[in-house]
Amino acid sequence: MIPYLPLKEINAQYQQQTDEALRRVTERGWYIMGEECAAFEKEYAAYTGTRHCIGCGNGYDALWLILNGYKQIGKLSDGDKILVPANTFIASVLAITHNNLQPVFVDPSPVSYLAGEKEMLAAVGDDTKAVLLVHLYGQDSYGDTLASVCRERGILIIEDNAQAHGALHNNQRTGSLGNAAAHSFYPGKNLGAMGDGGAITTDDTELAETIYTLHNYGSREKYHHIHCGVNSRLDEFQAAVLRIKLQNLDKDNNQRRSAARELIAGINNPLVTSPYISDYHSHVFHIFPLITPLRDKLRQHLATAGIETQIHYPVPPHKQQCYRAYSHLHLPIAEQLAQQELSLPCHPLLSNEEIDRIVTAVNSFTGE
Ligand SMILES: *Cc1c(COP(=O)(O)O)cnc(C)c1O
Repeated sequence: MIPYLPLKEINAQYQQQTDEALRRVTERGWYIMGEECAAFEKEYAAYTGTRHCIGCGNGYDALWLILNGYKQIGKLSDGDKILVPANTFIASVLAITHNNLQPVFVDPSPVSYLAGEKEMLAAVGDDTKAVLLVHLYGQDSYGDTLASVCRERGILIIEDNAQAHGALHNNQRTGSLGNAAAHSFYPGKNLGAMGDGGAITTDDTELAETIYTLHNYGSREKYHHIHCGVNSRLDEFQAAVLRIKLQNLDKDNNQRRSAARELIAGINNPLVTSPYISDYHSHVFHIFPLITPLRDKLRQHLATAGIETQIHYPVPPHKQQCYRAYSHLHLPIAEQLAQQELSLPCHPLLSNEEIDRIVTAVNSFTGE
């Protein structure tokens, strides 16, 4: 069996270092907002190329904290419209609606599957207050023209960088391109913790200070609360694990890229479309998406060949039961991707032999 993502094996590479980290944390006896978290925040800010990094509980909270932080400092208000890709993971949308803001769904490109510069520019209106760019599947979706239009009109650019740690736009990391960025360290992400974790990066000192307060019950001074905040903190053990794995992130991403290149070079079947690679937008292949109108049959064919796959995502947010209010919307590309996307294994430990087996299995698919 070729697993979709052998997380246990991936993390076993760091067994000795994570054992030492757990010991370090337990010996110190300080579990939350301590040395490991402060050190990780510093190292991840330096890696991303931003002035500030604030660790938090998960990627959803990172998104929620950015939007709520902008409300606290008066840059967003109830009901403001936020552009968001129609084919993103639901967390991006929940962070908007849970802040009493309005999502405006933007259908992605049928080629890159991203709602990037072109799609967002076409959707910008007089009442757009922010653009939530999602670097979906690990591909940079930023654009310099979009950025200058947003700057002129006072529209915020927020990045959902949950799937694209380490991707580049020219020579800058995703997560440092917009006004603020949310990162998830869910175990399966390119930079994954051994539990939940997340972070916010930004150069905006006022926003960073507000989020720092918000993520700890709205308090700077114990038992004195400036904002109605939440509890969303990155614990010391997760921070220690992330510090260890951050050192390997570029190497891991290069291995993902090389696995993806070989899969793309090998796959040759008129029934399936391989992921698009742009000359201008770097890709760290968090997900390797194949598109085929016979998705469920291909998934079965690969399972029979001992290859585990996943679907990202089978139901777009506007068609979810919880978002009945948006079910009348017609977003044809997002809806088509939900029917046709199939994710192949693509991770740093994928061997050449496994790649060959996957390519052979995809190429032998006849649609039966
Ligand atoms: C994983 C993910 C999130 C949410 O991150 P969690 O840490 O699971 O809360 C948000 N947006 C996107 C695009 C994601 O892939």
